[in-house]
Amino acid sequence: MTTARTLLEFDATYAREVPGMSLPWSAADAPAPALLALNEELAAELGVDQAALREPDGVRFLVGQGLPEGVTPVAQVYAGHQFGMYQPRLGDGRALLLGDVVDLHGRRRDLHLKGSGRTPFARGGDGLAVVGPMLLEYLMGEAMHALGIPTTRALAVVATGTTVQRERLLPGAVLCRVAGSHLRVGTFQYAAATGDRDVLRALADHAIARHHPEVADADQPYLELFRRVCAAQADLVARWMLVGFVHGVMNTDNTTISGETIDYGPCAFMDRVDPATVFSSIDARGRYAYGNQPSIVQWNLARLGEALVPLLTDDDDLDTAGAALNEVLAAFPDVYAQRWAEGMAAKLGIAEPDLELGTDLMTMLHAQRIDFTSFFRALAAGTARDLFLDRDAFDIWAARRDALLPADRDAVAAGMNRLNPVVIPRNHHVEPALRAAERGDLAPFRRLLGAVSSPFEERADLADLVGPPPEDAIPHVTYCGT
Ligand code: AMP
Ligand code: MG
Repeated sequence: MTTARTLLEFDATYAREVPGMSLPWSAADAPAPALLALNEELAAELGVDQAALREPDGVRFLVGQGLPEGVTPVAQVYAGHQFGMYQPRLGDGRALLLGDVVDLHGRRRDLHLKGSGRTPFARGGDGLAVVGPMLLEYLMGEAMHALGIPTTRALAVVATGTTVQRERLLPGAVLCRVAGSHLRVGTFQYAAATGDRDVLRALADHAIARHHPEVADADQPYLELFRRVCAAQADLVARWMLVGFVHGVMNTDNTTISGETIDYGPCAFMDRVDPATVFSSIDARGRYAYGNQPSIVQWNLARLGEALVPLLTDDDDLDTAGAALNEVLAAFPDVYAQRWAEGMAAKLGIAEPDLELGTDLMTMLHAQRIDFTSFFRALAAGTARDLFLDRDAFDIWAARRDALLPADRDAVAAGMNRLNPVVIPRNHHVEPALRAAERGDLAPFRRLLGAVSSPFEERADLADLVGPPPEDAIPHVTYCGT
């Protein structure tokens, strides 16, 4: 019998190249593993036969049991600023890196388990994860991927057959996650805090080899690495903003070096435009609100810059090293604004970026509480005006846009509809789908997953998943019971 074990060629690049930053560890036993969701498209990309993953041995593999000879899972260590407070040692408390594989496109990808039991970094946690939040991570990752936004993705969610104590007893699950890497800003913070320049250099060299091999021969490779991570994050957060995505926990340990979205916890898509939109019950002060995300990621990148300082100088000329990194960081707002303006221009169907037209639109959508996602489809359809109470304000703005539109209006509308989604995973549909899944009914989850995986398609049979909740619906709050 061919199994997943024999089909995946694992390497352990991270553990080998970055000594001292991970610990070998094994997954906890799962008494009755049952496959809840398998990403067939992603399995194919990895070169794994999805049928093999559905076999009992395949499902056991997906929870870290019966691993192939020579595969040693590790728990990665990292530090991080959580809500602005430095935590010197976080790390994979309930997760394991199985290793990395090269996919069919030649890209190196990590395979990682979440919810696989306590590790030496578990602190007070139980090391476990539950079905609802793991399916949420699966759903959100696929929605983001379909929207063209860099993200980690779930290969599978497997129910473990155990019950886990949260605010109530819930079914346990393990997520198998695929990522460009699991390097975080917090990984660099931890390496820098060891005070051992060799560890930090090994980590940075590993990051360069993995994500930006072209900078290895630059005059200042570590400064170039920083510039590229800043650019990747500017692009990522601009893309979040352009679909109304609120990450919810933008701690430095949840900010990747790859520029992929990672760790879907209390995240959600904004319905009516409001920069203060927050979904997380633990973010009472709105640190990670929708409108704060660009400045927060810049703050996180400043922490990465600090960690890199020792690598930019051989003779402890920290001032010069710091100044070079600061110059790159200071350019972040412009780099971000450029990315955002370009993306907004594409959403609006205009040929040239116009930052002011975009920011004025956001102000108007906020003032009139317009649903963000619906607006752009309505604009392409010529019905946007109907969404506004103050139609004069819309008319004035629309006239400015009209002046910038290319002549072929049908082509403009078609182009807009290729990048403005009809369906996003809205809270008022996500929540009931996850609750049903917890009770063993996966049909609503699968239906929603199918819809958000083809977000630009208008389908009559999925019309109920389109549009915001009723105006008087109770605002959504995500509790941190992950
Ligand atoms: P997060 O906010 O989910 O990114 O997690 C922050 C830190 O808490 C990471 O170091 C996680 O590994 C750890 N963590 C979260 N939940 C648990 C848990 N149930 N058991 C052990 N560690 C956890
Ligand atoms: Mg995290």
